[in-house]
Amino acid sequence: MDIDNFKHINDTLGHMSGDLFLKYISDILKSQVKIPDFAARLSGDEFAIIIENINDKNDVINRIQILLKHLRKPWMLDNHEFFISFSIGVAIYPEHGDTLSLLLKNSDIAMYYVKKNMKDDYCFYSHDIQAENVKQIIMINELRHAIDNEEFALVYQPIINLNSGKLIGVESLIRWIDPIKGVISPMEFIPLAEETGLIHEIGKWVLKTALFQKKTWEEQGYPHIKMSVNISGKRVTNSDLINEVRELILKTNLNSNEIQLEVTETAVMEDINTSTRVLKELRDMGVKIALDDFGTGYSSLTYLERLPIDIVKLDRNFIKGISNVGQSNVIVESVIKLTHDLNLGIVAEGIETKNQLEFLILNNCDYGQGYLFSKPVTEKEIEKLLLENLIYV
Ligand code: C2E
Ligand code: CA
Ligand code: CA
Repeated sequence: MDIDNFKHINDTLGHMSGDLFLKYISDILKSQVKIPDFAARLSGDEFAIIIENINDKNDVINRIQILLKHLRKPWMLDNHEFFISFSIGVAIYPEHGDTLSLLLKNSDIAMYYVKKNMKDDYCFYSHDIQAENVKQIIMINELRHAIDNEEFALVYQPIINLNSGKLIGVESLIRWIDPIKGVISPMEFIPLAEETGLIHEIGKWVLKTALFQKKTWEEQGYPHIKMSVNISGKRVTNSDLINEVRELILKTNLNSNEIQLEVTETAVMEDINTSTRVLKELRDMGVKIALDDFGTGYSSLTYLERLPIDIVKLDRNFIKGISNVGQSNVIVESVIKLTHDLNLGIVAEGIETKNQLEFLILNNCDYGQGYLFSKPVTEKEIEKLLLENLIYV
């Protein structure tokens, strides 16, 4: 059993509160798990429970459900309520292992499956989960090869100024071009790369390639095209990023305020202190920071004011909801207004229809991005668009 987002508790409430929370959980376990059963803390926020004398799976399910009922009660700290969830993996002797270490290993595999796919739930170890695990291990190996063989490419999606209707920048998006499988989406491999630490090498390649592309465009006579680069959460909490950006700016001689780094709010919240420090330093160099996928994470509005950011990227799920100009789209309207009140710019992501565009223009949204203007395309196609110098709006 593992506490979901325990790091978040530690980071936002402090380690003392984190300790209190662990004690609180231990007390629940002590009161719910009685001899001959057994509960133990394995490490940090990981617990193990041994249940004896079970007849079948249903016995276990019943026990877990009772336990979860107690664990899911809000935790009170200084008169605040906290709702905390847990991921639980189960292995049964003897079908899922005949030694303690195998049972622990397999329940761990099941627990990770819950953590990755649903959270706040439990699941039994199974061959399917194991197969999924093996598939991922294979993919991780292939990803290592992909790095060595440089099987990556960047595509670029135009960002349009909704006032002037002009293409003012692009967002770089990575593709993995596997010689056999073809194009693999970042949604499939970025999470794996993050888990394994391979993201650092991939991220370095992305940043370098994107910035040198911008330099090439400048040399071709297309200055001032803003280059926006996605930065993985794992890299925002690492000071190496600062040096990397500084060195690239020196090498390319680019204007730093035409470089924009996109970080998701979930990533920033993971370790708010470190990421704030790293983002501040980057901003001091003149680099712009965009808060990506806004509205999908914790979206604490208090943080919006405190984070060192320049731009908010409103997640495409909000834009999807806009179907009619007349219809009330209170959230989108309010977020645009709020970001402007905070002196931030705002980009609407995933604009697909004319209606959505009209609504956004009517509500003074600054920038837009989406299939309505263009899908992500190769650098050559961006060059064509630049040459045509279209007015999109
Ligand atoms: P994101 O940063 O939110 O990027 C926008 C995604 O929305 C892109 O998907 C883009 O193709 C897609 N999109 C753009 N306009 C529309 C639209 O009108 N409708 C719809 N349905 N989709 C639209 P993509 O390229 O598959 O990238 C997915 C995610 O992978 C990105 O989401 C980003 O989180 C991550 N990613 C992509 N490239 C990189 C990278 O170089 N580094 C890191 N760390 N993450 C990356
Ligand atoms: Ca992005
Ligand atoms: Ca986004």
